[in-house]
Amino acid sequence: MTPDQMTVLRLLCDTVVPSIDHPDDADGFWARRATDLGVDQALLVTLPPEQLPLVAGLLDALEEQGFLTATQAQREQILAAVADAVAPLTAAILLLHYGLTDAHGRNPNWTRLGYPGPAAQVPQADPPAITPLRPDGDLDLEADVVVIGSGAGGGLIAGRLAATGARVVVLEAGRYRTEADFAQLELLAYRNSYRRGGPAPTGDLNITLMAGAGLGGGTVINWTNCIRTTDRVRRQWAEHGLTDLTTPAFDKHLDLVWRELSVNDRCSEFNRPHEAMHRGAEALGWSFATAFRNWDEKRHDTLIAGHLGFGDASGAKRSTLKVYLEPAVTRHGARVVDGCRVDRIFTENGRAAGVVGHWTGADGTRSGDVRVIAPTVVVAAGSLDSPGVLLRSGIGGPAAGRYLRLHPCTVTLGDYGTDMQGWWGPPQAALVNEFAAVEDGYGFLMESVQYTTGLGASALPYTTGAEHKQVMAGYKNLASFIGLVRDRGHGRVTVDDSGETTAWYSVDDELDVRNSQRAIEAQIRLHHAAGARGIRLLGHGLAPWSSGESLEEYIARAREIPLRAGGAVLFSAHQMGSCRMGEDPATSVADPRGELHDTPGVWIGDASAFPTASGTNPMITIMALASRTAEHIAAEAR
Ligand SMILES: Cc1cc2nc3c(=O)[nH]c(=O)nc-3n(C[C@H](O)[C@H](O)[C@H](O)COP(=O)(O)OP(=O)(O)OC[C@H]3O[C@@H](n4cnc5c(N)ncnc54)[C@H](O)[C@@H]3O)c2cc1C
Repeated sequence: MTPDQMTVLRLLCDTVVPSIDHPDDADGFWARRATDLGVDQALLVTLPPEQLPLVAGLLDALEEQGFLTATQAQREQILAAVADAVAPLTAAILLLHYGLTDAHGRNPNWTRLGYPGPAAQVPQADPPAITPLRPDGDLDLEADVVVIGSGAGGGLIAGRLAATGARVVVLEAGRYRTEADFAQLELLAYRNSYRRGGPAPTGDLNITLMAGAGLGGGTVINWTNCIRTTDRVRRQWAEHGLTDLTTPAFDKHLDLVWRELSVNDRCSEFNRPHEAMHRGAEALGWSFATAFRNWDEKRHDTLIAGHLGFGDASGAKRSTLKVYLEPAVTRHGARVVDGCRVDRIFTENGRAAGVVGHWTGADGTRSGDVRVIAPTVVVAAGSLDSPGVLLRSGIGGPAAGRYLRLHPCTVTLGDYGTDMQGWWGPPQAALVNEFAAVEDGYGFLMESVQYTTGLGASALPYTTGAEHKQVMAGYKNLASFIGLVRDRGHGRVTVDDSGETTAWYSVDDELDVRNSQRAIEAQIRLHHAAGARGIRLLGHGLAPWSSGESLEEYIARAREIPLRAGGAVLFSAHQMGSCRMGEDPATSVADPRGELHDTPGVWIGDASAFPTASGTNPMITIMALASRTAEHIAAEAR
């Protein structure tokens, strides 16, 4: 960055979060600019290096438009004119202004937000149960099975196969982190435990993707909502050749996983957003259910539970790391390399023969190549990266990367006129499933989300600095619902010349559009029935509804919002189907047992194996399928 570009950057930060004269400002909330918190400097550190030239170009363009000499109002107009180009940067500034913390783990804006920050009382953390392999240089290993990625699917398969006596090696791109590493801080968690450093958009900017990265994958940072695979999905997947899914054989896997994860509904206290959801559902006569969660009752603490998406500091979360991976190492001799990104699978005579990758030490100073020779390879890098492994290896056939499902989510905020304390208690303690199969087996769930300050602020479409601050000043009174659509249509994952994956997704299937619009309407009605005095769909160009205005007119306007970048703000925390199982090699990557059609010995072990979207929070389905796949792998080895 040149000095001129830095000047524009600082001014951009303070245009997005300006200092505003306000009579009620004892805590300095209104006066505080983004640069007062060092957001400009933090941006430079957090932006991926490859994006810096783009940002620099954008700053030059702003300067050419007279940004430096313009008034606040004029600068806001300039930003509005280039809203699409500048949106990711604006969002990053807001994320940092409300998420950055000082040495004491505090952000001064939280006083106004009524957010107390991390729970103060945290139990003594257990020492790390395992030590991943820490090579000195290049690493060569031999194994019976090598597992790529250690999340919901890969972690379980590694554990199951290690328990049969197989020599298992797990290669995980993220790091091994345990309770002692989890400071209940949003930005730290994104950096340490999320794919690509936190929420990141699809290549077409239509949907913000969130996925875990670390030993245990998404199960270390997810919200522990456990839902069994529905009968309708089991029947549909049987039509894709997974015929045992409609039989008790699959119940056995679901039951086993349920037991192993200690799933229960006794730690699902309702916070105020969930009380509102309950009230609204009762008033409307809609089906509502308390969530079951993979959670150790003995370690349950409602204050810490509110931060579980930042890694669970209480140790109550029954992640695949705790339930399968650590025992695989301590009891069955499995070997784990963290910080190891697998590049590709190699074959001999058309069969799996092993994998090659690269490890990097936690401090970034040491690294080396990794080669594991193994006749069985399990691909479980998550639905955004498993296709990358196959495509880089030149295997998997024409369906590799296609059929990516995302459960696209719209988000609504209800203003309840009172402090909702959304940071308290489990983030997903209940759901409304009235419309789960509203048309042709497809529909949507309504759920709540984990309280965040940074992501919450950045997801609020930016109009002007004053308007955004006004909304944030009332942030504590807001409760969020999401409408999570079971998508019939799909996107895809591609790899570029450097081997990096990109996901692409447009909500253009007509049933998905209808269901997204239904989900928007239902969320608005739910907030209204629960007593919200203001309702806001997260979307660009749509003013919120306020008590006294016509709700029907607001719903009609909200239903019209485009379901893409520049319209509704869409999220996905559920990626599925990009290496799916099925009978036809033209439309599926793996056979109905999970083994590649074109490469024996390579198996798909994660959510990418789903034939279609599960329509429910997928962890339990991923794990039950992985349990079934592990059984097939073990049978093959005999
Ligand atoms: C914030 C959030 C909340 C969620 N809440 C819930 C919930 O409450 N209930 C629910 O059912 N689901 C929830 N989910 C979804 C659930 O966690 C995921 O669907 C699940 O973890 C996916 O499992 P997976 O095995 O497909 O992949 P992941 O769990 O994502 O694991 C893939 C792993 O592979 C690693 N990897 C990637 N590329 C490579 C490579 N080249 N080499 C080596 N390793 C690689 C990654 O680092 C990652 O650790 C949530 C997800 C998020 C992000």
